This record gives sequence, structure tokens and C-alpha cells, in this order.
Amino acid sequence: MDNCLFCRIVRGEIPSRKVYEDDLVYAFHDINPARPVHILVIPKHHIASLAEVGVADEPALGRVLAVAHRLASENGSPDGCRVIINSGRIGQQEVPHLHAHVVGGSDPVGPML
Ligand code: 5GP
Ligand code: ZN
Repeated sequence: MDNCLFCRIVRGEIPSRKVYEDDLVYAFHDINPARPVHILVIPKHHIASLAEVGVADEPALGRVLAVAHRLASENGSPDGCRVIINSGRIGQQEVPHLHAHVVGGSDPVGPML
């Protein structure tokens, strides 16, 4: 996706504060953190939202969840985190490249992101 913001971040065309990258996923600090720790974990290939997920996307989605707790732990949220995926209009998803918010810090997170 040429003009997708997060695809461009994966390609390095737009700078980001990367915390992790492997063959399937890319993780970086949210530009406008809602909590002391706020990391976005995304599949490296373009998936617009949970509505567009297919069987071929399952390894990347599994990896998103598999790395989330460890990335939070290594980046200032050692005692757990909350993982949130907004999807579509009702989920108030703003960036149309599937992403998991991993939020935390030293205090428990509130009921919302
Ligand atoms: P959504 O509402 O789509 O679930 O969340 C999008 C998130 O992406 C927001 O938390 C927003 O702060 C973050 N974001 C938007 N543009 C950028 C950007 O250019 N760089 C980074 N690092 N985060 C961004
Ligand atoms: Zn994309």
C-alpha cells in the first residue's frame, strides 16, 4: 500500500521510534501516547482492519499477540499491559492498517485506552 501511513513506517519512509521488528511484525512507540507506555504492534504487510483478516494473515496476527507482553515489559511496563485493537468506524479506528495498542506503565491502566 503505497500511501498507507503504517506501511510507510515499516518501509522506513516515515520515521518511527522502533522497539522491535521481525519477519512478520513491526513495533514502535505511539506518537501521541495515551499512557506512559504506549506501543503499536503491526503486521508488516498491509491489513486494513480486523474486517479484512484472512487465513494467510493469521501468523502475523498471532505474532502481534505473542510479542505484546514482552515488548511492554522491556519498555517500562514490567507488571503487565493492556492490548487493544480498534476496528472500523464503531471501534474508532483512525489509521487503516491493523495495529494493536499495547499500553501500560507503573500504575494500572484505566478502564479505557
Ligand atoms: P487508532 O485510533 O487507529 O486505533 O490509533 C491510531 C494510533 O496511531 C493513535 O494512537 C495515534 O497516536 C497513532 N499515530 C498516528 N499517526 C502516527 C505516526 O505517524 N507515528 C506514530 N508513531 N504513531 C501515529
Ligand atoms: Zn498499510
